[in-house]
Amino acid sequence: MFDNPAFDAHERVVFAEDEESGLRAIVAVHSTRRGPGAGGCRFWHYRSSAEALTDALRLSRGMSYKNAMAGLPLGGGKAVVMMDARHPKSPRLLEAFGRLVDSMEGRYITAEDVGATVSDMEVVATQTPYVSGLPRTAVDADGNPAPKTALGVYLGIKAAVQFQLGRSDMRGVTVAVQGLGGVGYELCGLLAADGASLRVADIRPGTVQRVCKEFDALASLPNEILFEHVDVLSPCALGAVFDGNTIPRVQASIIAGAANNQLATAEDGARLHAAGVLYAPDYVINAGGIISVGREYLGGASAASIEAEIRRIPERLTEIFARSRAENRPTSDIADELARRLITNA
Ligand code: NAD
Repeated sequence: MFDNPAFDAHERVVFAEDEESGLRAIVAVHSTRRGPGAGGCRFWHYRSSAEALTDALRLSRGMSYKNAMAGLPLGGGKAVVMMDARHPKSPRLLEAFGRLVDSMEGRYITAEDVGATVSDMEVVATQTPYVSGLPRTAVDADGNPAPKTALGVYLGIKAAVQFQLGRSDMRGVTVAVQGLGGVGYELCGLLAADGASLRVADIRPGTVQRVCKEFDALASLPNEILFEHVDVLSPCALGAVFDGNTIPRVQASIIAGAANNQLATAEDGARLHAAGVLYAPDYVINAGGIISVGREYLGGASAASIEAEIRRIPERLTEIFARSRAENRPTSDIADELARRLITNA
C-alpha cells in the first residue's frame, strides 16, 4: 500500500472480510485533523483488491479536500465494498458493513455513494450511529442533497461568468449542461429563470425532451455536448470527461459543473489553463450537497444557515480564479494547495 501512487500518508486504512455475509471492504481515512473522516461508501464490482484500494485511497483524499474547502469541521474518509456475483447486497452484508464502521469508533462517518441507497444506509444505521445522509436527520422534507448541489453550482457559474466574461447577469449567456439527473435538472431550472440559453444532453431521451419543453432549451447529443459553441460548459453526469483528447475540442471559455473528478489526470488542469479555459474546481463548486448533509449530521443547523454556507461557494471560487490569474497557474493546483493548507493548519 505504501508504494501505491494514490497513498498520501493516509492516517488509517482498514481491510475487512466477513465470511458469513461475504463482505469484503476497505475503509480509508485520509485525515481527521479537521474532524471525523466523512465520505460515502461505494459498492462496486472491482477487478482486483488493488483497484479497490486505489479507489479508496484516492476518494478519501478527495473528501478531505472537499470537506476542508467547504469549511466543514470534517476530515476525509471513504469506504469501498467489493461486490461479487456470489454475494449480492443483502441486509446481512449491510449489517456487517455497519459493524465495520462502528469498530472505527467515529473516526469514519459513512453515507450513501455509487451503488448504495438511503434504505441501505438505514440498515447500516442499525449497527452504528456513524451514518450521515439519513432522511430522519434532514433539516428539510426529503434530505435530497441534489437541489443544494445545484444551487452551489448555479452560484458558482455566475461567479465564473462575472470573472471571465465581466457580466453580472445571465441573460443571453449560453450554457451547455451534460446530464439532466438530480443536479442537472435543478440547475437548468435556476439558469433558465435567470435568462440563460441552454443546450442540454442526456442518455435518456425522455428527460432531454422534458427539459427542452420546460426550460426552452435546445437538445444536443451526449457525445457532442462537450464541444458546443457556448460560454459555459457544465458537466453534471460523469467523471473524467476532460483529457488530452477532449480538451483541444472544448469551445467554452468556462467549465463549471457538478460532476466529481472531472479531470482525468492532474495534468488536465494544466491543459485547460493553457487553453485559456477557466475551470471551477469540481470539489469546490459541487460542495452544496456535502455542506447540507455534513451540517445535518453535525447538528444545530437550520435550512437558512445551510443555505447561507452554500452562498459562500462563489467567494471561494473567485479567490481561486484571482490567484490563478495572478500567478498564472491552473485553478485545480491552487484549489489543491488551499485545501492542503486548511488541513495542515487545522
Ligand atoms: P444522477 O444519476 O441523478 O444524474 C446523472 C445524469 O447523467 C442521468 O440523467 C444520466 O442519464 C446522465 N448521463 C449519464 N451518462 C451520460 C452521458 N454520457 N451523457 C449525458 N448524460 C449522461 O446524478 P446527480 O445526483 O445529478 O449527480 C450528477 C453528478 O454530480 C455526478 O457526477 C455526481 O457524482 C456529482 N455530484 C452530485 C451531488 C449530489 O448532491 N447529487 C453532489 C456532488 C457531486
